[in-house]
Amino acid sequence: MTDPDAPRPHEVAVPLPASGDAWLRVIGRLRTPWTRRADCPRQGSEDGPDCRIEILPHWHAALDGIEAYARLEVLYWLDRARRDLAVQNPKGDGVTYGTFALRSPVRPNPIGTAIVRLIARDGGTLTVRGLDCLDGTPLIDLKPERGLFTPKAAAKPADGERRR
Ligand code: SAM
Repeated sequence: MTDPDAPRPHEVAVPLPASGDAWLRVIGRLRTPWTRRADCPRQGSEDGPDCRIEILPHWHAALDGIEAYARLEVLYWLDRARRDLAVQNPKGDGVTYGTFALRSPVRPNPIGTAIVRLIARDGGTLTVRGLDCLDGTPLIDLKPERGLFTPKAAAKPADGERRR
């Protein structure tokens, strides 16, 4: 069987240092219907299936107030992606793109982002629509969607006239 992670022709892998420069706290898991990458959508959609965001118990308090937002920004760690390709050949047809010109999961820091619709909250579990990741994908952050959010802290001079 061919390795689905093997570089395609014209793809360029770069050497990776043995250790990383930063570390993250996983705050929960994303529960989706997909167990194979081939079955995941390339980008989530609000028309997609209900999925769950399961927050670890010690972070449940961090959900206070989240029901006020119809949409959330979800950041997740695409943990099953290789991380060393600088140039990719997404269709395998010889047309290449730099990794930073793509939203491919294959990147040095495989952070995925999605704007999801919040359907319901039950304690530390959120039901949402709009994810595109494998079941069990680690969750690294959750915030109100930018356009729906008004800063809660006092305005700063650098915020400009709109916020004063
Ligand atoms: N919406 C995110 C973004 O734009 O940052 C991710 C987009 S990425 C194109 C979505 C694809 O990543 C899926 O179709 C699937 O092939 C792959 N994928 C999903 N979950 C993954 C995981 N946990 N590890 C590696 N690859 C994953």
